[in-house]
Formats: sequence, C-alpha cells, structure tokens
Amino acid sequence: MFSLTDPVKNMRAATIEEEHQALLQFLYLAPVGLAQLTTDGEIVMINPLSAQLLMPLSRDGSLNNLFTTLETVAPELRHLCASFAKPYGMICDAARLPVNAGVPGKSDPQILSLTLLKLDATRLMAVLSDVSVQVKRERQLQQHEAWFNAILHGMTDYALVSLNGEGGIEQWNESLKRVTGLEEADVADRSYSVFFPDGTTTKDNLADRLHEADLNGWSLQEGYCRRADGTRFWASTLITPLRLGNDDAAHAVAIRKDMPDSHSYCLVIRDIHEKREASESRRKELLCDHLTGVANRRAFFDAAELELERMRRSPRPLSLVLFDADSFKSINDRYGHPVGDAVLRHFAATLQETFRQVDVVARIGGEEFAVILPSTDLPAALAASERLRAAVEDACVEIDGVRIRYTVSGGVASMDADVSSLDELIKRADTALYDAKADGRNCIRTWKAGHVRRLKMVMS
Ligand code: GH3
Ligand code: MG
Ligand code: MG
Repeated sequence: MFSLTDPVKNMRAATIEEEHQALLQFLYLAPVGLAQLTTDGEIVMINPLSAQLLMPLSRDGSLNNLFTTLETVAPELRHLCASFAKPYGMICDAARLPVNAGVPGKSDPQILSLTLLKLDATRLMAVLSDVSVQVKRERQLQQHEAWFNAILHGMTDYALVSLNGEGGIEQWNESLKRVTGLEEADVADRSYSVFFPDGTTTKDNLADRLHEADLNGWSLQEGYCRRADGTRFWASTLITPLRLGNDDAAHAVAIRKDMPDSHSYCLVIRDIHEKREASESRRKELLCDHLTGVANRRAFFDAAELELERMRRSPRPLSLVLFDADSFKSINDRYGHPVGDAVLRHFAATLQETFRQVDVVARIGGEEFAVILPSTDLPAALAASERLRAAVEDACVEIDGVRIRYTVSGGVASMDADVSSLDELIKRADTALYDAKADGRNCIRTWKAGHVRRLKMVMS
C-alpha cells in the first residue's frame, strides 16, 4: 500500500515494485528453468522453461511439489533439504538427474541439471536446465580420451626416435628398449643405421628417405630391423619431418626437449612380424621367383626403376650386373633338369651371399640373373661381380650324390650421363655379358663404348 503522506517512501515503494516486476519478467523469460519453493518443496512460482522441463516427470499432470515431481529421479532431495542446517546456501550444485535413459542408437538419454539454493528459512530456489547435449559431448570426450589412452598404451609397441637432419639419433622413448633391446649405450651418438641389420642401409638410402619424408610428409618402409642381440625382426619404419612452430608437431616436441634446428625427424619403429607372416605367401607369389626365392622379373624392374628415379633426384653411382650360367644346357643334358634346378638354386644362394642386402638380386630368365647395385660405381661393381664368379668357380655342388662344378659369366654397366633409361643400362650390361661369353666364359666384363651389341638381347 502506498502512503499518500510520504512521497519519498512512496517513490521507494514504486521502485521496489518495478524491480520486482522486472525480476519476475526475468524469471519468466530466463533461458534456464527457475522455480521458487517452500522448504517442503511446494512450488510457489515457476517459469515456463522449468514447467516444460519438469512436466514429463509429473505423474498426474500437475506441478505442485518439486520433491514429489522429482521423486523417481532424485528420491534423496527431500531429505537433503530437510537436513540442510545452514540458514542459507547451496544445497546441491548442478546435480545431474537422469530423466530417461534413451534408446541406444535411436535417442540420446535426457539429463536435467538441478541447482538448489536455500534463500532463507522459508524459501528455496531451484535452477533447472537440460544438459543432455552437454552430457553427450562429455561422454564422447571421455570416449576419445579412453581411445587416446588406449593408443598411448598401445604405443608401447612403437619405438619413437628423433633424428637430426643427418639421421643422427637425438632422443628416444622407453619403448625402444622393449621393441629392439637397444639401450642408451647402443644408440647415443649413433645414427639411423644402428636400427637396421648390417649392410641394409647406406648414406644415400637414408638421404632418400629423409628427402621423401620432406616431400610427402612421411616415408614408410617395411623391412628387417636389428635387435640388440643381432637378431632381426620384420618392422615398419615411418619417418616424418618435425616442423617447429607447427601445432601438428606438438606431440613431437614432447619427445624432444631441445630442438637445435628445424630440420629433424621422428622415426617410428614397429614390430610387424605377425603381419608379415600373414602376407608373406602372397608377397612371395607376386615378387619372388618360385624356383630360387630371389626377386622375379617384375620385382627387378620395379626396384630398378625406383633406383633410377632416386638417382635422378640426387645423383649418385648406380650399377647393374647381368650374370648367365655357362653352358648350362649341357648340365641339364648330362644330369637332368632337376639337377639343373638345384644348380640354379645354388647360383641364386651364392649371389645373395656375395652381394649386399641393399643390392637387389633377381632371376630374370632361365639361367640368367641380374643384380642392381645402388650407390656403387663401375670398379666396385666389377670387384663384387668378380668375387661372385670366383665363389661359383670354387664351389662344388653335391646333388643326389653327384658332385657338380659350374661357372658363370657376368657383364657390368654403370649409369652415366649418356644413359637415359633402364633399357639402355640393361643393353650395356648385356653387351658386356656378351663380351664375357665371347672371351671364353667364366669371366666378368664391363661395358665399353664402341662395343657392338649382340643382336639377341638377354632381356628380349
Ligand atoms: P651359354 O654359356 O652361352 O650361356 O650357354 P647355355 O647353355 O647356358 O645357354 P643356352 O641359352 O643355350 O641354354 C640355357 C639353358 O638353360 C637351356 C634351358 O634348358 C636351361 N634352363 C632354362 N631355364 C631352366 C630352368 O628353370 N631349370 C633348368 N634346369 N634349366 C633351365
Ligand atoms: Mg642364357
Ligand atoms: Mg647360359
């Protein structure tokens, strides 16, 4: 009631009334559900959003008492309020009330959030909101976190190593020891090649991989890695460049505390012998010669083209040797085809023993083999071929009680500025091989400019 006699008091009362209206307006339109209650939960005032959120929980369609309405989802609420001893304060803060569980795959669970405040001895204020979407997001995040943790846990199967721009080992994680057995003393101040069996990596090979990683963002290879005890295991090795200042590299920064330059790499080594065993038979079928187990023609051409491409990208020597068993027809004629086969297997095995792991030994014809020698110049290729020739000459193959000796001839050619294709390189090696045959067999010849090529090419 306004007093007509006290204008100041009247004005103050009018202001309070306006504020009260504004507050009611706010409560009415508030984007959260608000309800004013007695301490017994009787609803004195409720805004539309609250009514909308609570109505599905009402059994009889009325909203008289909040505790009764929330009986099924928050039975403890009445007791919680009754036992709240303080004159005012927060009775519960954003309690999650599961309204319905949802149907898996069809609808999401509906969750309400309830904050209950004691305003004074007689009044409570309830703040309600629908947090279903937020809870769903949280669950997804938790799932992602669990997923991420699972990966991190699984990461113990991966050895992580950081390499500098020259392939020098800088840091590594604990899994390195588990995966390879290599310890600090084995890897500190060493280079990338320490992870691979002797002879399977060269400086150029490393440079190629780093270059490939820079170019494409990664370089992935499958092949043998070395354990500390000298045994080998089939592994996939992934090299990725680490770029400073790039968010994507944040994880990489975690394994490298000091980053002296921006040109460094992350090497991931993973033991995949199980995968290899599964795919081994198919791989053999596609790329290995069925009689001798060395690379077949297809694998030879693939490997040779790859080497040529690498050589063009970063120039370096590259040699090719063609070998042909001498007078092989007479071995077949004299001892029979199966014995001839066994001799071919011996030939292939001797090639593999003599040449390096990085060299590609392939059977490209009946009794003809080719070897690609990356990063090898003509004199070095000639020397290795000569060792092979001598090893075959010195060997005595015993098959079914029969002792057989045989010899081989070889032709060596190396890439130079005049050779523009694999075909030309093969023709040069073939010409050299022809020279070796013409010179009496059991010898190695190198390609010489001006020599006449024979008409029937080995590769034709
Ligand atoms: P040259 O010294 O001139 O090379 O004489 P060669 O007898 O080795 O050469 P030629 O090309 O006349 O004969 C190759 C022989 O290799 C003929 C063929 O029967 C034999 N040969 C080819 N493939 C196989 C094979 O898979 N197994 C066996 N046992 N013999 C093979
Ligand atoms: Mg031949
Ligand atoms: Mg022959």
